[in-house]
Amino acid sequence: MIRRCPRCDAKNRIPEAKLDAAALCGQCRTPLGPLTAPIAVESAAGFDTLVSKSSLPVLVDFWAAWCGPCRAVAPELEKLAERLAGEVVVARLDTEALPQVAGRYGIRSIPTMILFREGAEAARVSGAMPHDEIARRVGLGGPRARV
Ligand SMILES: [Zn+2]
Repeated sequence: MIRRCPRCDAKNRIPEAKLDAAALCGQCRTPLGPLTAPIAVESAAGFDTLVSKSSLPVLVDFWAAWCGPCRAVAPELEKLAERLAGEVVVARLDTEALPQVAGRYGIRSIPTMILFREGAEAARVSGAMPHDEIARRVGLGGPRARV
């Protein structure tokens, strides 16, 4: 996955398994810092690596270009990624491009957002809603939903 350097704007290719790590820019060695924006899932293999290797929980938005509510929720996910940077990785998965992954999780309506912890589904929410509502319903941010 591609991350732009905040200092020199170089494009850095970061393996899915290292997205949560303290990566440095290949050009200028500036720390890229925690992810502050959603990333795009590029392949089924990339998805598997991301959810299974990430030390942070991964919130995956299953969406499609033709889906109006998906467009409505996209800026909410951007806000969520910024607000919970370093706490969660937000990823967007195009269900048209990767139907096999959507099928594996029985995605019937979109947008559906699934929170993965250590590779396993921990929470799921469907439909467009504000970012704080998404976070609350999957148990992210704020006081711990469980011990
Ligand atoms: Zn740089």
